[in-house]
Amino acid sequence: MSVALFTLGGTIGMAGHSSDQRRIGVVNRLTGADLIAAVPGLGKTGVKLDVRDVQAVPSPNLTFAHILDLVESASRAVADGAAGVVVTQGTDTLEETAFLVDLLWPHAEPFVLTGAMRNPTLAGADGPANLLAAVRVALSDPARGLGALVVLNDQVHAARWVRKTHSSSTAAFGSPDAGPVGHLVEERVRMVMAPPPRVRLFESRPVDRERLDATRVALVPVVLDDDGLLLDGLAETHQGLVVAGFGVGHVPSALAPVLGALAERMPVVLTSRSGAGSVFRHTYGAVGSETDLRRRGLVDAGMLDPYKARVLLRLLLAAGAARDEVTSAFERLG
Ligand code: ASP
Repeated sequence: MSVALFTLGGTIGMAGHSSDQRRIGVVNRLTGADLIAAVPGLGKTGVKLDVRDVQAVPSPNLTFAHILDLVESASRAVADGAAGVVVTQGTDTLEETAFLVDLLWPHAEPFVLTGAMRNPTLAGADGPANLLAAVRVALSDPARGLGALVVLNDQVHAARWVRKTHSSSTAAFGSPDAGPVGHLVEERVRMVMAPPPRVRLFESRPVDRERLDATRVALVPVVLDDDGLLLDGLAETHQGLVVAGFGVGHVPSALAPVLGALAERMPVVLTSRSGAGSVFRHTYGAVGSETDLRRRGLVDAGMLDPYKARVLLRLLLAAGAARDEVTSAFERLG
């Protein structure tokens, strides 16, 4: 059995920078072959890893275009017989790239993303264990049909719920609203929960690359004593907006008419900046509450966090989705 392994960079592939003494700190230097060579026990899986080194960058440098290319290459690998796909990348943007893949991946073969929190020069580097676990999940029957999965720290997370919740811990990834959907137990993959049913929005409505390049979606958190200045002129530069509101989806009352006016010109999606939980629909009634903002035309993102909501909205706009399609997509995925 073969698994296609795509490497994009990130901490898992970093090592000391020996050639340029002026630079300190680890940088992306390791190839997929290096990563594989560092994994004890990989041979026992009997898997053939078909390695493609695609990028060697810190994940803040990844783009939507990189991920669309990745999905196309991975699709070809599956058509050529790969039983599953593993991607190694930096963890900083992993929750966004995984969700982007999940929205686009049309196959039953598992698409597993992983990375590392400790680079290979450190004691207790977690990359090798994460890579081995990711390969096991990519090969496992229970992971088939579940779309994009994130595997780190012997846990399996659904792309839709996973968050990077800590800046440096090896237990950085969690799914605060749902918990992990599976665990690695010795060499077995134990799925304990079914991820939410997949919603295939982009099979019948492919993403137009040119349009994607031209589509800007802003993500604006509201803050204490917010004067709303960041929203000024936004409709001239952006085609969509995600607002990360307080709690269940609240903003200062002075911002409510500003957001309402923006919502007349572009989709404005309401999320919570809280880190877990859903925005509400009809509990609070003050100006700037969720009820008020919905009445002014904001779309509620349900349980989707601000980062994932932005991924979805940009993809929808790049696919030419009309206003009611945007609302119904968030209805189905949020
Ligand atoms: N800054 C790194 C990256 O995202 C962090 C990591 O890989 O964990 O590329």
